[in-house]
Amino acid sequence: MANTMQLETLRRIVQEVDASPSLHEALDVMVNQVAEAMNVDVCSIYLLDERNHRYVLMATHGLKAEAVGNVSLSTSEGLVGLVGQREEIVNLENAPQHERFLYLPETGEEIYNSFMGVPVMYRRKVMGVMVIQNKESQDFSEAAESFLVTLCAQLSGAIAHAHVVGNIDVFRKPNSGPNYQTFLGVAGADGIALGRAVILYPAADLSSVPDREAEDISEELDILAEAIEAVREELQQLDAKMQDSLMSEERALFSVFLRMLDDHALPAEINALIREGQWAQGAVRRIIDKHANAFAQMEDGYLRERVSDIKDLGRRILAHLQTEDTGHKEITEDTILIGEEISTAALVEMPIANIAAIVTTEGAANSHMVIVARALGIPTVVGVTELPIHSLDDAEMIVDAYQGRVFIHPPRRLRTRYKEIKKDEDLIAKDLKQYETKDAITPDGEEMKLFVNTGLMIDVVRGVQRGAKGVGLYRSEIPFMLRERFPGEEEQRAIYRQQLSHFANKPVVMRTLDIGADKDLPYFSIDEENSALGWRGIRFTLDHPEIFSSQIRAMLKASIGLNNLHILLPMITSVSEVEEVLYLLERDLAAVQEEEQVKITRPKVGIMIEVPSILLQIEDFADLVDFFSVGSNDLIQYLLAVDRNNPRVASVYSHFHPAILRALAKLVQDCHKFEKPVSICGEMAGDPLTAILLMAMGFNTLSMSSSNILRVRKAICNIPMSDAKDLLNQALKLNNPLMTKSMIEQYFRTHGLGDMVKSGRVVTV
Ligand code: PEP
Ligand code: MG
Repeated sequence: MANTMQLETLRRIVQEVDASPSLHEALDVMVNQVAEAMNVDVCSIYLLDERNHRYVLMATHGLKAEAVGNVSLSTSEGLVGLVGQREEIVNLENAPQHERFLYLPETGEEIYNSFMGVPVMYRRKVMGVMVIQNKESQDFSEAAESFLVTLCAQLSGAIAHAHVVGNIDVFRKPNSGPNYQTFLGVAGADGIALGRAVILYPAADLSSVPDREAEDISEELDILAEAIEAVREELQQLDAKMQDSLMSEERALFSVFLRMLDDHALPAEINALIREGQWAQGAVRRIIDKHANAFAQMEDGYLRERVSDIKDLGRRILAHLQTEDTGHKEITEDTILIGEEISTAALVEMPIANIAAIVTTEGAANSHMVIVARALGIPTVVGVTELPIHSLDDAEMIVDAYQGRVFIHPPRRLRTRYKEIKKDEDLIAKDLKQYETKDAITPDGEEMKLFVNTGLMIDVVRGVQRGAKGVGLYRSEIPFMLRERFPGEEEQRAIYRQQLSHFANKPVVMRTLDIGADKDLPYFSIDEENSALGWRGIRFTLDHPEIFSSQIRAMLKASIGLNNLHILLPMITSVSEVEEVLYLLERDLAAVQEEEQVKITRPKVGIMIEVPSILLQIEDFADLVDFFSVGSNDLIQYLLAVDRNNPRVASVYSHFHPAILRALAKLVQDCHKFEKPVSICGEMAGDPLTAILLMAMGFNTLSMSSSNILRVRKAICNIPMSDAKDLLNQALKLNNPLMTKSMIEQYFRTHGLGDMVKSGRVVTV
């Protein structure tokens, strides 16, 4: 096959597979298309049934149809097993002569001589094997090998989407009722929840509209008819308006759209789906998807480009349907919120008490929404890339956010088991309550200051209740996210005053506005190709001195009479940025004192250590600032070059990485050499396993989410500093994050602290 043809064929196959409504149909499409494109006698796909350790024949072109679903090989059997074991291509001219060839009479296989098997890999795991065979003895060419490898790599996501980890039901025939499925994601905020799914999706986003049963079919038909009529009128008006400015050919699209809206065209198809029981919005999504996919597969480039037009038409209909009904379900008790991505702003607007858990397909453990969810104590699993959101409306679910697992339609024994675990959890929480009034003092008499990270008022309330000795990080962007515009100076002053006064006589470290990257304001979106390295934190605020100054002025005014304000600067990279801030601060301080006619205590100023350059310039910064605070969430991202929001690389992001631990240990020494206090306010301060290492390094304070304070305090009260130092010395010598983690876990388990080790409660099902 010529390269361009290969590409074209690949594209077509991938699109057809993506458009298939079920895994079984997708696999059928795959084998038939591959057999045709490669001109081979047989193409088959075997998927791994992890439970039984067998490769099951799921689809075939060329072998006996009855073999599908009935033929399987153990993972150590046959050539298929060999491909899986080696995780590489096996290409044989004469397969029956190979020692691993296994004769399977049910398939009629003996007549095929040449064999090529390619593993279907997803996230380093073999999910199945694709096989092509020919009667004739021949070595498949290198081009054929690379075609199949590319195809399998592209299709593995689609297969994974349906063939989810541990899902046994995929090996049954389709249509066997609601399936029990399990999915793996990334553990975000700890905890366990049982409840029902509510899908959260952005308005006017056709692709994320869920499937849902219509409550009243005739009502759905009526609202569809109204929406179609409204779109017709809209298009006619647009057409009339454009008469003078567009040529008639350019306006032709409007008449195409209008014809598509004729009663016998799209509306008839959508109505038919509604009559089958689908609600109007879901029916529109399905029909538009069907047509868009059909266009996408056309060979003709012009027709292919019509995909965006048909989608546009769908969005117009949807917009009208959603003015009647946003489609969002009520958030009642035990709601499990699911969505592709849920923003911090959307989350904090919800009736929090009713949210039992959050599950998203995007995101990673330290994304901003997760940090807020953690503060709110909501179990959260993110990066569940394969979760079929559309079909989960109102589905019964269990979320195990310790292990990052999500169970859909769980069987009864699993529900019972998790209910028991939840009871144990409640007992652990009760036990932790005794630590609310204790100080964090090690058994050998060393005290550690534990501060709280805040953003919402609830963090302040919980922080006070759990005995925080101050606020180590107030994320000032959170109140900004809750508004529809930048808050004014007086509005900000009132918010900051609340934070400062609840911790009167204790230090409150307020970070200046840290937006950009994953922290978007609903009214000021920063859309950048490489946003983690872009216009964020201090880089943004220094470019907007009017926003920066109004924040500084509000903080200064809020601190009058309390004198506990500390200012922290995010994303500092260079000394000159601090110099600029100090200049603005002096100017604002003088102006506010003049206006208010009071003397205001100059706040201490510190910088966040997030950008690795700072690690090499502590001496330079020590001349300018009063304290340092490590933002380990970002520092890890930049030191390990791993996006903190990308689930694909979540396993690379580890706060046990030797480079992180060694860098932090050295940093503490440097800060102390220049007599500057250093705190840490990233998520690793709130993990008891790393908190004790940080304590041993000599951090002056650990600042964490209120939901972690009691656990960390319990660890400190039970682990002597001498043991913590031994553990740190061992950790600094190890070269592998997993070994460090298990070494510390082992210590916790053998010292009566096993309940703090997340993997201590693996539930096997
Ligand atoms: C950090 O980067 O560690 C930090 C505390 O800041 P944020 O998580 O808000 O980026
Ligand atoms: Mg940060």
